[in-house]
Amino acid sequence: MAQDDVFKKLVAHCKEYGYVFQSSEIYDGLGAVYDYGQYGVELKNNIKKYWWDSMVLLHENVVGIDSAIFMHPTIWKASGHVDAFNDPLIDNKDSKKRYRADVLIEEQLAKIEDKINKEVEKAAKRFGDSFNEQQFRETNQRVIENQQKWDNLHTRFAKALNDGNLDELRQIIVDEEVVCPVSGTRNWTEVRQFNLMFSTEMGSTADGAQKIYLRPETAQGIFVNYMNVQKTGRMKIPFGIAQIGKAFRNEIVARQFIFRMREFEQMEMQFFVKPGTELDWFEHWKTIRMNWHKTLGFGDENYRFHVHEKLAHYANAAVDVEYRFPFGFKEVEGIHSRTDFDLSQHEKFSGKKIRYFDPELNESYVPFVVETSIGVDRMFLQVISAAYCEEQLENDMRVVLKIPPVLAPVKLAVLPLVKKDGLPEIAREIIDDLKFDFNCQYDEKDSIGKRYRRQDAIGTPFCVTVDNQTLEDNTVTIRYRDTMAQERVAISQIGSIIGKQVSYKTLFARL
Ligand code: ATP
Repeated sequence: MAQDDVFKKLVAHCKEYGYVFQSSEIYDGLGAVYDYGQYGVELKNNIKKYWWDSMVLLHENVVGIDSAIFMHPTIWKASGHVDAFNDPLIDNKDSKKRYRADVLIEEQLAKIEDKINKEVEKAAKRFGDSFNEQQFRETNQRVIENQQKWDNLHTRFAKALNDGNLDELRQIIVDEEVVCPVSGTRNWTEVRQFNLMFSTEMGSTADGAQKIYLRPETAQGIFVNYMNVQKTGRMKIPFGIAQIGKAFRNEIVARQFIFRMREFEQMEMQFFVKPGTELDWFEHWKTIRMNWHKTLGFGDENYRFHVHEKLAHYANAAVDVEYRFPFGFKEVEGIHSRTDFDLSQHEKFSGKKIRYFDPELNESYVPFVVETSIGVDRMFLQVISAAYCEEQLENDMRVVLKIPPVLAPVKLAVLPLVKKDGLPEIAREIIDDLKFDFNCQYDEKDSIGKRYRRQDAIGTPFCVTVDNQTLEDNTVTIRYRDTMAQERVAISQIGSIIGKQVSYKTLFARL
């Protein structure tokens, strides 16, 4: 099935099974804003717990905070967001559709990369085991030409971004003959900068209301609390502060479902280090974060690092963790070495000292910062994309979400085979016993086959069926979602069988 179709089906599935709804749907929706349904919220909470515990429980030098969304407006002046948190936009004059100029060029680069990869794949099939990819890439004329095209375009693009040269960005789009997918024309406007921050007013107008911003990242809440946490927690450098919270960006083009939203949630950790050691810590956190992703078992080949073409105004190194979504490799997480930029700026703008007294050096300095920043919603999309699976069975087709059991919204469904003979009562007793440990669901409607399909569709890893034999020997069948295998076990064993597989501890042990 084409990847576009898979993605469409996945979006429809998320709605049909209570994972994600369009916000304000009965009013025809609000662009790039989404609500999470009854299963979506559980998955989101589980993702957050996986992240939070891996940061705060597993690292004794990382602590968490929860700062307010509203902050003093000068913070955003100091951080550079008021002046520089922009994206370059371009409009097509015929369709009146708006695009991000940098994204149009990135898509052009991806197209060339695709061409190269297709050549390589074709050759790999032709030559079989004797295929030498490196040699092929170095000698095949078409690959060499496309690689040169890619290199030239990439160099030109990176330079234009770094110079902030909007005319050159437009010229690249013209030279590359990029067409608008809606109108099919190349009738482009100039490229303009567009600030992504939302603003609102605080206080009544009679008092002179103050313009404030909805935070576009959670990181600044951490920076302005650096001294509070360092002092009250008696933290010694190196140490980190973690936070999960909402962020808001007035994205120019909001497409691809929950990949790019205007209201989203971030999980960020700022790690404060001694100046000069930041690039070592940057490498350290790159490894830790990549492991965190790969441990979920979605396939190591589906991840890669992508080095930024353009460093943000505050960074001296930056890399993205990219996952292979149905629409290609895209960023899920950013790891940035942010230098001492933010803390120094807040020192300057607030007039307060933001320093660390290092007892070993016997001197004070402004710490450097390495940040890991991941979107909860993009992580959610990663999990759902990896999990969504259509399987052809002997006489049937099933759609199953193979979500890792530890993250699955419902861990266990308890199903009485029939609605009589005391079977529902036993099923209820099992739930009463297990509901403090696991999210359980009771279902007695329809045939057992239909009930299994419903649980497959929401990703429940275990179904327990109570039947007549249960009345005789207190055993039930436990059915495993991924293999559909069934096993007869004692009721008293259910808790420990499931417990091991859904435990964060088991997952953390693999990190
Ligand atoms: P992009 O290049 O895709 O716009 P970014 O580089 O601006 O992302 P960061 O500022 O590094 O993103 O934000 C850190 C993380 O926050 C991203 O890796 C992503 O997971 C998440 N994120 C950023 N913007 C959005 C958005 N509009 N919707 C959902 N998640 C987002």
